[in-house]
Amino acid sequence: MTSPLSLDIISKLPKTDLHVHLDGSLRIETILELAKEDNVELPARDAAGLRRAMNIGQNCGSLVEYLKAFDVTLRVLQTRKGLVRSAYELAEDAARENVRYMEVRYSPMLHTRQGLKLTTVVEAVLEGLRAAQEEYGIESNVIICGIRNVSAESSLEMAELAVAYKNRGVVGFDLAGAEYDHPAKHHRAAFQLVRDNNINVTIHAGEAYGPESIAQAIHVCGAHRIGHGCRLRENGDLLHYLNDHRIPLECCPSSNVQTGAIRDLASHPIKLYKNLGLRVTVNTDNRLVTDTSVSKELWLCHKALGWGLADLKQVVLNGFKSAFLPFHVKQQYLRKVSEELAAFDDAAYTAPTEVGPSPHSVSSSAPPPPVGPAATSAEN
Ligand SMILES: [Zn+2]
Repeated sequence: MTSPLSLDIISKLPKTDLHVHLDGSLRIETILELAKEDNVELPARDAAGLRRAMNIGQNCGSLVEYLKAFDVTLRVLQTRKGLVRSAYELAEDAARENVRYMEVRYSPMLHTRQGLKLTTVVEAVLEGLRAAQEEYGIESNVIICGIRNVSAESSLEMAELAVAYKNRGVVGFDLAGAEYDHPAKHHRAAFQLVRDNNINVTIHAGEAYGPESIAQAIHVCGAHRIGHGCRLRENGDLLHYLNDHRIPLECCPSSNVQTGAIRDLASHPIKLYKNLGLRVTVNTDNRLVTDTSVSKELWLCHKALGWGLADLKQVVLNGFKSAFLPFHVKQQYLRKVSEELAAFDDAAYTAPTEVGPSPHSVSSSAPPPPVGPAATSAEN
């Protein structure tokens, strides 16, 4: 007798979230409360109105539209108190769905509008995460982001901050923001500084621009992981390079649909990537803005891509393997998590029927369908 693989079962699996933005992952009630306490203007005064105004969980059509919700969240993230609370609650929410290890990313420069020092911003977020770790046991570290569409100078300043807080809770450096028209190579000096200090690099790439952006992230900026990588499927040669070098992809399926990077979940390239052996991980991107959790993302992969429990376990283990943690710490996690996962019997749950290509894949407005690497020419 088998039973359906439910969201509830998935929420019991130990998990990671390696790609989650602090400023996209607040609770809606917290935004309302912080705004009230600090007299901050919001586009609506109640949860339903605010969700509507921020397009929560909606398909926005483009990354730039999707990013507009952050105009609202950032208004209440300008105080020490707001930062500590938001970081604490994010880790609390993650712990409640059995996320064991999380890497929270944000850009400290976006939190200084009311005069907070950059160091105060970093320490406030670390304080919130540490408090949640004490309470719930979830381990969290921080990835500091430069912003593509701000400036190379500001990215360098963020890189300096990452260096200053290395071994003090900051484990990586990222480049976020509008990808189109803002190539990562403009921020080369920031990447050079973090690499000179042996700090891990991940870069949002191949989300709102083609595979050239992924190649640049890896070959020019030294990325150790790639955020999203949706358009990697367009370049088979590069795809194999990532596979051969075990460069992890931080996939965020629902977010990719909402930003228009992917047409629908059923056509998400994560399935192709996994079949080819790439190290794919499943993440939230933004718990609030995308209206999701790691468990929900895995459950959606089960429903839309036909992944059974064994597939989900493999992806979960990929998360622990891809963490920006010392090797011996990852080994400890992997031993423990493998044991826990073994207690969930693959044969006890019904695998959904194999999902074919989306019926919309012939639509003329659709992006190019996935192409196998053999059929693709090398472009970089
Ligand atoms: Zn992201």
